[in-house]
Amino acid sequence: MPEFPTCPPRGSSRLSRRLALTGLALWGLSALVPPAAARPEAPETSEHLATLLGIPAPAEQLSAALPAVRLTRLTEPSSLLVVTAQAAARVAARYGVAPAAVAALPRPAGEEARVLRVRLPLPELARPPALPASVLTHTVRPGETLAAVAARHDLSLVDLLSANLGRESLDDLTPGERLLIPTAERGLLVRIKPGQTALSLIAAYGADLTRTARANGRLPTALTVGDYLLLPGIQAESFHKRLIERRAAQAEAERQARVQAQYERYLSWQRDRERARREEQAARQAQYEAYLAWKSSPERQRRVAEYERQVQYEAAQALARARQRQQAAAQPLSTRAAGVNVSAGGGLAWPMHSYRVTSRYGEADIDFHKQVFHGGVDLAAPAGTPIYASAAGTVTESGYGAYGMNVYTVQGNSTLVYGHLSRTAVAAGQTVQQGELLGYVGCTGICTGPHLHFEIRLDGQAVDPLALLP
Ligand SMILES: [Zn+2]
Repeated sequence: MPEFPTCPPRGSSRLSRRLALTGLALWGLSALVPPAAARPEAPETSEHLATLLGIPAPAEQLSAALPAVRLTRLTEPSSLLVVTAQAAARVAARYGVAPAAVAALPRPAGEEARVLRVRLPLPELARPPALPASVLTHTVRPGETLAAVAARHDLSLVDLLSANLGRESLDDLTPGERLLIPTAERGLLVRIKPGQTALSLIAAYGADLTRTARANGRLPTALTVGDYLLLPGIQAESFHKRLIERRAAQAEAERQARVQAQYERYLSWQRDRERARREEQAARQAQYEAYLAWKSSPERQRRVAEYERQVQYEAAQALARARQRQQAAAQPLSTRAAGVNVSAGGGLAWPMHSYRVTSRYGEADIDFHKQVFHGGVDLAAPAGTPIYASAAGTVTESGYGAYGMNVYTVQGNSTLVYGHLSRTAVAAGQTVQQGELLGYVGCTGICTGPHLHFEIRLDGQAVDPLALLP
């Protein structure tokens, strides 16, 4: 491979040294030019160059300097460097270019001659890159994959990739993108880069020269930088492998990202759960502390004391009733009832029109009646049922008492008690006639359901009302 700089060494110290050494340097562009000595028909002899460049120097002198001369390919734009004493206009005329295409470069040190850059109009550089006639282009349609395009043109994926070495991925196909499709010979389709030639590539890949010339439809030497060169029989296996590895690496990265996201979700869930647990614990603690505060609060102590007073009161009541019963037992009922107008079969009326007897005199049906002697009869009725005076008398009590909201009427030695009312319709001190409204059924005081506790006392001693009611 000849040494070809990839860009023109304009005015560099290297150029200066070379110019100083040879007195002549020529950078020209050609597709592929072996060293001048290897080409017998090559025009780059000293005489020719002297004539070509118009340098007025003896041919022998030029011959002596020539071994150091090298033809160097420039990539863009095609130009010659000419060392001359001639005017730029004359050089332009000689090369058949416009005067503007000739420019003077800085003069090399110790050099009398000037260095002119001559830009050459080379039409073949303006042409589009050469592409083998058997290679077609395919425009990617929406939804198409590389595999689908390969199958459509009866190619393997590697065949397709070998003709499209610029691809970055096996997956990202953009609609409208162009893919090169080999229709005859398959192989590696490379673009000649600056510093490369078709021959150097053929040698590097070990391709067959004749087969390559046939596959490309032209001589490899006719190809230049930017042209496509089809190297038949050579496949981009490693390129394919690289893309597959890249795809695998992407998939792995995505998988790891998913795992990471999942783990972060788990951590977040765990944090939420822990927070909820702590909040619940704090709420339980607060509840317990509120309970402790309540336990020792004045309000609770007040209620406890109230409850104890009530218990003591009820115990005292029960004791008083037990004493009355003992006194009554010593005195027969007939003598007690004889002196009063409330006598058996005479005078009393049922205090309600409609009722149901749920507990009789002395009956120990509910817990309360087991503890405390039941001194009356319980007449159940819906709350609000009117209660009428069973006998005429004077109201001595109307309001809260031993039987919740209760009414007492007295006549002679007999006392009638109406208990557990929802409200009363009379006031203490007034007299009532038999059948007069006293109040309404309720469930005040110690009560398990709406009923009237009706009690008859003779000389302060409770007797069985059912024995006296009609
Ligand atoms: Zn009762």
